[in-house]
Amino acid sequence: MDIHSETIFDKIIAGEIPCHKVYEDEHVLVFLDIGPISPGHTLVIPKERKAFLHLLSDQAAEAVGRVLPRLCRAVMAATGAEAYNILQNNGSEAHQVVMHVHFHIIPRFGSRGLGIGWDTGSLESRDAEVLLEKMHAALAESAEGE
Ligand code: AMP
Repeated sequence: MDIHSETIFDKIIAGEIPCHKVYEDEHVLVFLDIGPISPGHTLVIPKERKAFLHLLSDQAAEAVGRVLPRLCRAVMAATGAEAYNILQNNGSEAHQVVMHVHFHIIPRFGSRGLGIGWDTGSLESRDAEVLLEKMHAALAESAEGE
């Protein structure tokens, strides 16, 4: 699959498909999810056409990060929610349906909101060391590419 192919979110950004717009700036568009898990379920998307978070440019990532807390406050103020989840799916295996980066803001009202299965294990020191070595190497490599 072409991870850069157009999605319905590009059409929303272009104004070809309507949305319930919450916020817009040069790099970011925010609108209500058409299939809300709970009232106030909102999507925050970069205008940059990238399928997955790890492909996003620093500029687009900064723009999303700058407005995300502000949008969470707006969702809380509008709905009265005191709790919420941020969900960001990458890959169909991880429940991503629209292949354009998006952050869900999902208010929680008692039992209503995002269902979460949290099947925990335990972190063994040896496994942590192996992971850290690989992650540090990956970070060093991506820093070199900057
Ligand atoms: P995900 O499973 O993370 O890819 O979620 C995609 C989300 O996009 C779902 O929650 C959909 O309800 C939402 N969605 C799809 N099309 C539209 C649309 N035209 N307007 C608003 N939300 C949409």
